[in-house]
Amino acid sequence: MKCLHNSISTKANHQAKGGKREVGLSRCTPLHSTAERGGEGRHFPKPEQGSRERERVRRSNQVRVSEGGFTHPVKLGCVTCNATCSCSCVARAVAVAAMEPLPHRNYYSVFDSDILKRELDRIGVKPLHVFTIWTHVLAHLDTEAHDVPGLPHAAIEMLKTRFKTLTSQVQDQQTSADGTTTKLLIRLQSGQSVEAVIMRHDAGAGKYAGGPRQGGSRATLCVSSQVGCQMGCTFCATGTMGLKGNLSAGEIVEQLVHASQVCPIRNIVFMGMGEPLNNYKAVVEGTRIMTGRCFGLSPTHITISTVGVIPRILSIANDLPGVNLALSLHAPTQELRCQIVPTAKAYPLDKLIAALNCYQTISGRRVLVEYVMLAGINDSEEVAHQLGALLKDHEVTINLIPYNPATSSSFKPTSQEGLTSFQKILRGLYGIRTTIRQEMGQDIAGACGQLVIAQSVKQTPKVTDIEELCAA
Ligand code: SF4
Repeated sequence: MKCLHNSISTKANHQAKGGKREVGLSRCTPLHSTAERGGEGRHFPKPEQGSRERERVRRSNQVRVSEGGFTHPVKLGCVTCNATCSCSCVARAVAVAAMEPLPHRNYYSVFDSDILKRELDRIGVKPLHVFTIWTHVLAHLDTEAHDVPGLPHAAIEMLKTRFKTLTSQVQDQQTSADGTTTKLLIRLQSGQSVEAVIMRHDAGAGKYAGGPRQGGSRATLCVSSQVGCQMGCTFCATGTMGLKGNLSAGEIVEQLVHASQVCPIRNIVFMGMGEPLNNYKAVVEGTRIMTGRCFGLSPTHITISTVGVIPRILSIANDLPGVNLALSLHAPTQELRCQIVPTAKAYPLDKLIAALNCYQTISGRRVLVEYVMLAGINDSEEVAHQLGALLKDHEVTINLIPYNPATSSSFKPTSQEGLTSFQKILRGLYGIRTTIRQEMGQDIAGACGQLVIAQSVKQTPKVTDIEELCAA
């Protein structure tokens, strides 16, 4: 496989200085693709690994400082580097985040399947009981796992002390006046909050191929994968928070459990708070649970969005076959993309397109390209032609996202005429399937991260609904 990954050189020389840990960074040296490197984890210590194992992996990741390389300090978990740094420290921040310990948790969720199976195995109980536990607690959400009838005594004792059916709770719930959108503010046991948004669609509305569409109403759940986000996209409310922590697989699945109490969920989109591919293991594990026997969602009804974490794009087609990928592109040139998406410095556009090619070769799937329309920035006719030329040979659907200003953003939305003419160029001249995202939940804080931020600053924000879906 061609080497696509020109990124991370973790001379992770952690030091403790004045109570702040710092990371020594070096200029990027080319590494090889995930497959060539022997799979996920060789360069990214996994959060579930013990501290000694993390240290071993960290040491094995040390590489030389290349010619002209330099070092500079970055606070752990911070995305400071997005505007001022020419090295790949955003990518490095990904590696750093993977080394961060998980926030304190008193209990695991019963939907933390890997941990539950490991603990059952440790006490000599067969993993088939996991299905029994899940089936029972989903039918009786007010009961705990140790109350499930027929469990071996050793399992009951272990479950009592280490697991809870739900480790999170719905702190706030708002439904838009038109009833299409419900936003859940979910409080984790760490005390942090994330958002999950239910969007109800009428699949039969409008026409398809000249006739009525198939299907009735359906609901899509937009889930969060991290608390905050380190990617720092300049238009995004969540991006202003920085990264506060990764969700476990159980915490991701619990969002579906909570939402299912509101209405039946058919589709899942990982477009809430966080970059899903920066919390890769938990997202893969959570997705497998959702598509497993208990929840029974179709993989084709699940979409995972990324702003372009190339190594994970290359691995996700193998790890989650049938699941859809959405790529938040937002610009057709490297220069413009760097202004909007700081991670473009770490994952340049040419390598991203090469990764897209690889992904489509492996998966054979159409990719949803998300494109937020920012007036005077990326919405001109010239940019439309550049975007068309870039994607005309790919199996993609472009979803144009009307921008509504976040609380502290200086961006302005594109006019309706501007949206339509941009769409016409892509469709008419380049033959690319192009949609304009339907705005939903305008009267509640519908955009990614806005409700959490609103709660924390105690003010009512305007609505932005940026990272919403277009799952079919
Ligand atoms: S748009 Fe997505 S990846 Fe970018 S900062 Fe917001 S949550 Fe993170």
